[in-house]
Amino acid sequence: MPVAVHWFRKALRLHDNPALAKAVAACSAPNSSLLPVYTLDPHFVKNSHIGTNRWLFFLESLQDVDRSLSESGSKLLVLRGEPMTLFSTLFDTLIANGETVSLYFEADTSPYARNRDAAMLELCASKNIAVHTFNSHTLFNPSDVIKVNGGITPIVYQSFLKVITEKMPAIQPATPTLTQVPPLSDEMKALLTYTETFGFDAFQVPSMEDIGKAVPGENLVSTHKGGEREALKRLEEYMKQKDLVCKFQKPETNPAAFQPASTTILSPYLKMGSLSARTFYHELMKVYRASKIGYTKPPVSLLGQLYWREFYYTAGYGTPNFDKMLGNPICKQIPWRTDEQSNVDLEKWATGQTGFPWIDAIMIQLKQEGWIHHLARHSVACFLTRGDLYISWERGAKVFEKLLIDADWSLNTGNWLWLSASAFFHQYFRVYGPVSFPKKYAPESVKYVRKYIPALKNFPEKYLFEPWKCPIADQKKAGCIIGKDYPKPMCDHDAVSKVNIGKMKVAYDEGKVASPPKAPKGKKRPL
Ligand code: FAD
Repeated sequence: MPVAVHWFRKALRLHDNPALAKAVAACSAPNSSLLPVYTLDPHFVKNSHIGTNRWLFFLESLQDVDRSLSESGSKLLVLRGEPMTLFSTLFDTLIANGETVSLYFEADTSPYARNRDAAMLELCASKNIAVHTFNSHTLFNPSDVIKVNGGITPIVYQSFLKVITEKMPAIQPATPTLTQVPPLSDEMKALLTYTETFGFDAFQVPSMEDIGKAVPGENLVSTHKGGEREALKRLEEYMKQKDLVCKFQKPETNPAAFQPASTTILSPYLKMGSLSARTFYHELMKVYRASKIGYTKPPVSLLGQLYWREFYYTAGYGTPNFDKMLGNPICKQIPWRTDEQSNVDLEKWATGQTGFPWIDAIMIQLKQEGWIHHLARHSVACFLTRGDLYISWERGAKVFEKLLIDADWSLNTGNWLWLSASAFFHQYFRVYGPVSFPKKYAPESVKYVRKYIPALKNFPEKYLFEPWKCPIADQKKAGCIIGKDYPKPMCDHDAVSKVNIGKMKVAYDEGKVASPPKAPKGKKRPL
């Protein structure tokens, strides 16, 4: 009997999921079965590079898929272990039971996934299993973009826009949402329960404890709930604010705004694939088409943000060693600090102990909630790298990878390359001031710092972003002594940023790069 195995990885959804839709369509013959599978790969489970908030968000996303499948009498089979070994056992069990197996999954362009999927294709070939893969994580297939661009990976956003708008076919409509999937027969469930083999019920989405993860403590208070239902609800809510959508200009959004935030906060859902980028795109187009006031344009518009995502996916796909400085042909070779003290400084940055309240509040929000605004990411990434600490972007990206619920290999790497002026952006002399920048966003930035750093709750607003300048009598009155209740600044920003600009110039000159572009005249926008 035919069994269509659908392997969920990203695309944790039933809307716009072409691989799942095809697997369902393949089950139209009588006695055929759909088997939805997820593999909890030790590569992810055992490594410590995924933080608690992301695990929670991920498990909620998985539970939501299982809930949707269960509504049709199906169930997600969650196997724990190395995917090739698990699939080999699974295929052998099905084949020995007389089934004809085919496999469906969404393509994934990250390096680990590409290697894993190549091994899967070999395994399937060795067992005569037909494999069907689909590109639905991005609006454009990165390899197609590079192909139509004559084999060259576009690394300038405007050139990328030209390629996708002039040379790529129009974005396809979303695949219809699956309201019904074939139920899983009792016989199939009995065949695959695996309780005896693995010691757990594989038809149950595991809990944090089941996979050996710490249950979150009180200091983790993420309000971001995972799952397709939540993703679609948030998309719908955001798209109702038609003026906001049409006038969206990313550099004008406020990094300190919360309740409501100034951007969509859809990144964690896009990352997990609980939200399809194509669905987001088409909903946005509906709002644009109906608009009587016109709408903003890329790169600053909401569409522009979706295209940034595409841009970095394509760059990540087409650039060797994209997530490293060494061996990365587009990355400036910069002698970042590697001394012992840099480990201490990195830790202070990562734990919100720099003594700069704006930087610390952002890192504390990141640790507690797993999401921070784009310009907040800019501020702390610039501070860690070329701005103040002169520590490698690779080390910062690892901290983000652990703490962000939207941590995404292509986007995290691409943006760190940008912020450290290692690739894509070369105006290394434009540095974020950890004191001057947040002042532009008062009063929200004042509330923001007070919210995430309770020690500064009663601190005078005048000194909030540079508390070391506050007279001691006022510090006492506010109940916060700098150096005791809150750290002294770990560096003199004005002095150190000048030195670092000089070091960047030397590194650029040694790389025989043409003179960096001049700073634009007039109003300075965020980078
Ligand atoms: P919105 O402004 O509402 O944008 C909608 C969607 O467009 C986002 O959800 C995201 O998918 C995409 N998008 C927006 N900005 C960018 C961008 N600059 N680059 C690529 N795609 C973008 N984003 C991640 O999703 N994962 C990461 O790991 C990540 N790491 C980053 C690291 C650094 C140092 C910086 C500066 C940025 C990083 N970003 C990352 C990009 C960006 O900050 C987030 O995508 C955005 O803040 C998410 O919030 P939002 O969904 O409200 O975005």
